[in-house]
Amino acid sequence: MSAQRMIKGIGVSPGVAYAPAVVVRWDLPDVPDREVGAAEVEAEVARLRAAVQETVAALEQLQERVKERAGVEESRIFEAQVMLAQDPDFLRSVEHLIRKNRLSAETAFEYKALEIRNLWANSSSTRLRDRLADLGAIQIRMLGILTGKPAVAVWSGPSDGAEQVIVITHELSPGLTVQLDRDHVVGLISEEGTRTSHAAILAHSLGIPAVMGASGAIDRIKPGTMVLLDGQAGTLHLDPGPIELEDARVRLSRRQKTELELEAAISQPAESPDGRRYVLLGNVDLPEEIQPALRHGASGVGLLRTEFLVTGRTHLPTEEEQYAYFRRVTEAFAGRPVVIRSFDLGGDKFPAAFHAPHEPNPFLGWRSIRVCLDEPDLFRPQLRAVLRVAVDRDVQLMLPLVMEVDEVLETKRLLAEEADRLAAAGVRAARTVPVGVMIETPAAVALADQLARVSAFFSVGSNDLTQYTLAVDRGNARLAERFAPHHPAVVRQLARVVQAGADAGISVSVCGEMASEPLTAVLLAGLGFTTLSVAPPALPLVKWVLRSVPYAAARAAATAALDASAPREVLALLQQAADPYLSRR
Ligand code: PEP
Ligand code: MG
Repeated sequence: MSAQRMIKGIGVSPGVAYAPAVVVRWDLPDVPDREVGAAEVEAEVARLRAAVQETVAALEQLQERVKERAGVEESRIFEAQVMLAQDPDFLRSVEHLIRKNRLSAETAFEYKALEIRNLWANSSSTRLRDRLADLGAIQIRMLGILTGKPAVAVWSGPSDGAEQVIVITHELSPGLTVQLDRDHVVGLISEEGTRTSHAAILAHSLGIPAVMGASGAIDRIKPGTMVLLDGQAGTLHLDPGPIELEDARVRLSRRQKTELELEAAISQPAESPDGRRYVLLGNVDLPEEIQPALRHGASGVGLLRTEFLVTGRTHLPTEEEQYAYFRRVTEAFAGRPVVIRSFDLGGDKFPAAFHAPHEPNPFLGWRSIRVCLDEPDLFRPQLRAVLRVAVDRDVQLMLPLVMEVDEVLETKRLLAEEADRLAAAGVRAARTVPVGVMIETPAAVALADQLARVSAFFSVGSNDLTQYTLAVDRGNARLAERFAPHHPAVVRQLARVVQAGADAGISVSVCGEMASEPLTAVLLAGLGFTTLSVAPPALPLVKWVLRSVPYAAARAAATAALDASAPREVLALLQQAADPYLSRR
C-alpha cells in the first residue's frame, strides 16, 4: 500500500471498521455585508429575535431526539447550546450593532460571532475551544435561518445512501459524538484530538472504533472513499484494492473470533497462569456505561466520573440529582465497591453552568480538588449525596489532582461537617466514608508516604500523571507520540507509589487509560498493581491478557523497565515478555 493511501493517526478506540467516508464540515454560510435603511432597523431586530426563538426550538427538538435515543444525561449537552443562543449580553451587543451601524441581522450576528470565535480560538484554553463547537453549531443554525440557507452541518458522502459510514471531522466534540446514530456510524476519524481527549474516551465507551490526530484527513479523504479504519493501530487505509479488501474481511473475521475468545474471558477468573489474582473494576463516565461495565464482568466501579452531571448543563446538579445517580450506580453494582470521584472540573472539562475564569494554562490552573475546595457550594451537596448513599452501600470518595495533605484534611473536615448536619436534620446518612487520593501529580508521588497516612487508598490517574511528569499536554495531537505512560520516568513513579501504598498498608490501583491498554496493563501488573480500573469495552481484553501472561514474566519486564532509558525500550521489554503468551493463542 502506498503511503498516499495510508494515513497514520492515533488509535483511540479499538476495533476495525470498513465503510465509505462521510465528511462532516461545520461550514458556515457566506454572509454578504448588508446595510439597511433607518426605517428597517427595528424589523431587523425583530428578525434576529425570531431567529433566536427558532434556533432554540430546533435545539430543544434535537435534545428530545437525543434523549430518546441516548438518554437524558447525554441530551443535556444541548442545554449549553440553548443557553449560548440566548445569551443576553451577546444578543444585546448584536442588537446594538444593528441599530448603531444599520446592519442587517445576519451581518451583525456574523460580525459578533466572529469576534467571539477569534477570541476563543486564539485562547490556549481547551475549555473555550470545546465551546467553539457549540458556537459553530449556533452560527450554522442562526445564519441558516437569517440567510435562508439550510441550517445544518454539511455532511458530504456517498450518495447511494450507504447504510454504514465512517465519519470524518476536523475536531470531534463530545457533543457531536453523542449525536451520532450508532447503527449508522461505524467509525470515527478526527484531525484533532488524542487518546485522552474526552470525545475519545466517549467514543471508546460507546464502542465506536476511532482514530484521532489524523492530520490532513479531510483534504486527503474524498467523501465516498472506502476507508479501512483500525482503531487499535490508528491506521486509515484508503480505497483498498481487492487484496486489501480481502485483508479487511480477514481482519474483521479475526476480530470477531477474538471477540468470542474475549467473551469467554468475561466469566473466567482474573488470575494469571502462575496464580496471581487481579481485581478488574470499571471506569464509568456516563450512565450508559453502567450496563457494559456489568456485562463485561467489572467487580465494581474504580472510577465513577461525575463531571457529566455538570458539563454542558445550564445549572449545577442538586444534591438530590447526585444522590439519585449514585443510588442508580450502586444499586446496579449492589454488593460491589463503587469509588465516586469528586468533581474534576476545569482542564478540558468545562462546566457551562459554572462561570470559570479564562486561564492561559487551564491544566495548570483552577481545576479538580482546587475548584471543589474553593467553592463549597459546589462541593458540599456532592459530599452530602455521597454520605447519604454510603449509608447502606459500599461507597468510597476519591479526590483528583491532590498535591498535598491539607487538601485531604480539608475535604475530611467538610465531610464531617456535612455528616453532622445530616444527622442533626435526621437524614439517613453514613457518618463518614473512606476518602482516597488520586495520584496524578509528581507532587503526590513525592509525598506519597505522607498522603498514605491520611488516605484510605490510592488510585493512579496515569493520564494526568504522565502529562505532568513529562510536561506533555495530554490533548495535543502533535505530541501524541511523546505522551508515553510507559516512559521510564513514569514507570519509576508508579513503582514508588506501589511501595508507599504497601508500606502504609493501603490499596493502590490505577484508573488512567494505561490500565485499559494490554501492554501497559502487563507493565502495571509487573510493577505490583493488583487492582486496575478499566474502560468497560476493554475489560475482556485486559482480563484475557492478564490471564495469559504469567506474573513472573510481567514482573521481570517491569523490573527491567525501571532501568530503561526510553519509552521504546520499555515497550520492547513488554512485547518480549507478553508476545510468546499472546501469539500462542
Ligand atoms: C487520569 O488522569 O488518569 C484520570 C483517570 O482522570 P481524568 O482522565 O478524568 O483526568
Ligand atoms: Mg485526571
